[in-house]
Amino acid sequence: MKSKHYINWVNTLFLIFIPIIAIVGTVVLYSLGLFSWQTVCLAIFLTVMGGLSITAGYHRLFSHKTYKANGFVRLLFILFGAGTFEGPVLEWCTDHRDHHRYTDTPKDPYNFQQGFWYAHIGWLLTLDPKKRNFSNVDDLNRDRMVQLQHRFYLPLSIFMGFAFPMLLASLWGDAWGGLIIAGALRITISQHMTFCINSVCHAFGKQTYSDRNSARDNWFTALFTFGEGYHNFHHKFPLDYRNGIRVYDFDPTKWLIQALASMRFATDLKRVAVHRIIQNRLDMDQKRLSTIDTVSISINEKAKAELQSLYQYISQLLLQRDKLETAYKNLKTSKLDYMQGQAKEYRRLTRMHYQELKVVTSNLKYSMKMWTQLMKQTLLPADSNYESQS
Ligand SMILES: [Zn+2]
Ligand SMILES: [Zn+2]
Repeated sequence: MKSKHYINWVNTLFLIFIPIIAIVGTVVLYSLGLFSWQTVCLAIFLTVMGGLSITAGYHRLFSHKTYKANGFVRLLFILFGAGTFEGPVLEWCTDHRDHHRYTDTPKDPYNFQQGFWYAHIGWLLTLDPKKRNFSNVDDLNRDRMVQLQHRFYLPLSIFMGFAFPMLLASLWGDAWGGLIIAGALRITISQHMTFCINSVCHAFGKQTYSDRNSARDNWFTALFTFGEGYHNFHHKFPLDYRNGIRVYDFDPTKWLIQALASMRFATDLKRVAVHRIIQNRLDMDQKRLSTIDTVSISINEKAKAELQSLYQYISQLLLQRDKLETAYKNLKTSKLDYMQGQAKEYRRLTRMHYQELKVVTSNLKYSMKMWTQLMKQTLLPADSNYESQS
């Protein structure tokens, strides 16, 4: 019972007074005509650097190990991550790993079942740091850079969060703007962007891949969280370096990791196999149809039957594609064996497998499009009559 009333005064005062200082300070600077566009650009730059350090660094690298990054990249994440005042990597990651392991239960640090505002900010106001045992971050505890950040977190975060923007803005004579706009206001915005993933992405959106927890895919949140809005996918497949898996999904964190990989700054990017992703989506759609509330929604039985046969066809395609992909990969790895006198045969086989893979993949894409259309046709408002339209 005692822990229920615990108030974390450091977090509470910070999360109340920094936003007040940010807003009042910005208004005062603006009304005094001390508003500098260079400082606004600096604030945007630091928001992007800090935000990506949290999403690509704290989250997808340190918490989930979805890829490996070199020392320079990790150093940037550690420095700019500290500047957002979201805590040291060790604390952030121990909480986040617990969030995934115990989602929606009392052991989940930002348990959405305790309400939207608890998951957004309330958990931080009542957080008892003594309850953290760090047993789930042994791997990170051995990382020298992470250790150092943990040890010197307070001076480092004050420097990166406030002093560094002040110093930079003083280059154009706007130290106060650096402190208020590129410091306090930028920190407030960065923090609430992250908080939205724990609240909005557990409240609004589609449960595309799983309904075993409250996590939801929410493209709108992805726009201001550097791509973290596809949270249902992330909870289902936390080891994938992507959150938005389609080419057009807005996921700047994914693009950053891909860019780092193309420069060899990042390696070992983990992806979940396509067939697992699609199979999960099909199964969730099927489940949705079987548990639909038929009072407000009626089922178009004809379209539902078509979906059933399409389900079988797509499952076959997935199996076929998986086999072809494995065979193609095996062929690539045994290139040297073939090259000793069988180069022509190797090229023929590679071409053949590649072509087959291309055909199956395009069939799969077409079938998935059909699936989406049929899903829409299957669910109709209760008063509509599909048969009369067809
Ligand atoms: Zn979550
Ligand atoms: Zn995560």
